[in-house]
Order: sequence, then structure tokens, then C-alpha cells
Amino acid sequence: MENCIFCKIANGEIPTNTIYEDENFRVILDNGPATKGHALVLPKSHYADLFEIPEDVAAGAVKVAKKVAGTMKEKLSCDGLNLVQNNGEAAGQTVMHFHLHIIPRYKDDGQHILWKPTSLSAEVLEEIRKTIAGE
Ligand code: 5GP
Ligand code: ZN
Repeated sequence: MENCIFCKIANGEIPTNTIYEDENFRVILDNGPATKGHALVLPKSHYADLFEIPEDVAAGAVKVAKKVAGTMKEKLSCDGLNLVQNNGEAAGQTVMHFHLHIIPRYKDDGQHILWKPTSLSAEVLEEIRKTIAGE
């Protein structure tokens, strides 16, 4: 993808703050971090989102995230960690190259990554379940 910033970053065409790299992925620090250590797992190949990315590459991204998460726990002494992955504008995706956010969390860090719960009746929940399960 010619004009994709994350393709350029992932493939080393634009210098960046790499914290991990292997044959298929580069992990960089987010330049607008939610917390200290907020990082992004970037596949070196271009896939817009979770719908496009092949299963094995998605699995590889989670493997890399697990490795980096362990390092963050050890080196940054974070108290928790969120993995976040946005797909589509409606879900908050702003860069249309698949990426997995690794967000170390600290007690009282003031961030709000969780959603606002709603409530649905048991009937509506069951309808949704059937639709998704294909029943
Ligand atoms: P999204 O909202 O698409 O899930 O996340 C995009 C993330 O990429 C944002 O957190 C944003 O701060 C980060 N970002 C956007 N452009 C750049 C860049 O050029 N370099 C780095 N390091 N991070 C970027
Ligand atoms: Zn790309």
C-alpha cells in the first residue's frame, strides 16, 4: 500500500521508536500514548483490519503482544494491561492498517478504556444469540 503510514513504519521506510521486531511484525511506541509504554503491534504486510487479516497473521500478532506484555510487566511494573484492536471508523479506527494496541495500565492512571454497560431483556439477548450462532 503506497500511501499507508503504518506500511512505511512497519517496513522501516520511516524511522520510528521500535521496541520489538521480527520477520513479520514491528512493535512501536504510540506517538499519542494513553499511558506510559502504550505500543502498537504492526504486521509488516498490509491488511486493513481484522476482517482482512489472515488467521495465522492475527494469531502471530497476539503471540507478539503476549511477549511484549510480559516485558512491560517486568520492566515498567504496570499493574494491568489492555489489548485493544479497533476495526472501522465506527469502532474508533483511525489508521486503516491492522494494529493491536498494547496499553499498560497503572493504578489511578486516569484512563477510561472500558465501555458504558447497557441492559437488554433476556428475550432480546436470546434473539441476538440465535442470530450470531446461526440458529
Ligand atoms: P486507532 O485509533 O486506529 O486504533 O489507533 C491509531 C493509533 O496510532 C493512535 O493511537 C495514534 O496515536 C497512533 N499513531 C498514528 N500515527 C502514528 C505515527 O505516525 N507514529 C506512531 N508511533 N503512532 C501513530
Ligand atoms: Zn499498510
